[in-house]
Amino acid sequence: MTDWLEDAQRDLVLNAGDRMALFVRGEGAWLWDADGNRYLDFLGGIAVNSLGHAHPVFVEAVAAQAATLAHVSNYFATPPQLELAARLKRLAGTGTSGRVYFSNSGAEANEAAFKLARLHGAASDTTAARPRILALKEAFHGRTMGTLALTGKPAMQAPFEPMVPGVEFLDSTIEALEAAMDDRVAALFVEPIKGEAGVLELPEGYLQAARALTTAHGALLIIDEIQTGAGRTGEWFGFQHAGITPDAITLAKGIGGGFPIGALVTFGAASELFYPGTHGSTYGGNALGTAVASAVLGEIEQAGLVENARERGPQIRAAIAGIDSPLVAGCRGAGLLIGVALRRPVAKDVVAAAQQAGLILNAANDSTVRIAPPLTIGDVEIDEFAARFTTALQAVEEALLATDAEVPA
Ligand SMILES: *Cc1c(COP(=O)(O)O)cnc(C)c1O
Repeated sequence: MTDWLEDAQRDLVLNAGDRMALFVRGEGAWLWDADGNRYLDFLGGIAVNSLGHAHPVFVEAVAAQAATLAHVSNYFATPPQLELAARLKRLAGTGTSGRVYFSNSGAEANEAAFKLARLHGAASDTTAARPRILALKEAFHGRTMGTLALTGKPAMQAPFEPMVPGVEFLDSTIEALEAAMDDRVAALFVEPIKGEAGVLELPEGYLQAARALTTAHGALLIIDEIQTGAGRTGEWFGFQHAGITPDAITLAKGIGGGFPIGALVTFGAASELFYPGTHGSTYGGNALGTAVASAVLGEIEQAGLVENARERGPQIRAAIAGIDSPLVAGCRGAGLLIGVALRRPVAKDVVAAAQQAGLILNAANDSTVRIAPPLTIGDVEIDEFAARFTTALQAVEEALLATDAEVPA
């Protein structure tokens, strides 16, 4: 296989940089390229492959449901759809008043949440509508026009102006939220950990303050759990670390384990905002997708993988601390969503060197390497990770020395 990159460069849309490898097979936390090289996958499809690759539960769920009933349109219900809705309500703790809308991706889940916010803005007060929607600077909520408007990265928005109006971006501080909040705010969108921005944590107490302030002003608190959900951070959902109840959460990535599916889960009164004709999706919530997501979440629950994420995260951080590289400043994140902060803007070099060493990672920004392995990993994978990451860091340190660049002491 020598010409796959040429094929990719000729045939695929130019929306991304060059593809880094051609993968042909996966098993557990391992991937194989077309030349038979084996890689340890500590990116997990960006927090998607919760059970790793080709997990028997995933494989069986796809095969069994595909052989039974894949799709019938949303004029009808199916048992897997109802089962997944009930499961998500239980795991999110909505109680009986919660409701679930199914989509095919994270951006579509956030589009539904955006429409929910608009409905709330129109309906909650007839004398003073709520035109304002608050989101955080550097937040990432998706690539569609609606979710791009919610995404606090001006450089991403610039080529696609004008944006959907009404969204204001705040610094990620409680003071900034206090200053911005009033009775004309329909909703605050927030990620528990800003994954795409570089695995950035919120300040201590932020979600509790956000809950108090949105409640006081009648605004919705909408939490984007697309990257942090499905057990990734050591709780089922990131907001659960804060002990609060949001008005809505959005899900995708890890709930499907590799099958494209997303969801909006609403709590309490927010569950009564949509009415017939206000939203929909042809594929969303079809029997095949919901059966697979139910099986994935069922396996996460039965195998204790939320607890595993909680325990293995600190173990990986300890392994990284043990490498004692002058490049590594420390780690951020929670559970198995980890950002390794570097002292130089060489994250892309570290990711390339890691791939050379048989380890798949990702540069969340110039100076942060993102780690989001399958929730199934154990001692063997963590030992392999530490060895390969050490090799990668050393290669980058040596390259910096060779170019006379300063290696931090
Ligand atoms: C990945 C991601 C999205 C977008 O999901 P897609 O499935 O790529 O549309 C939205 N929000 C967050 C926090 C994400 O990590």
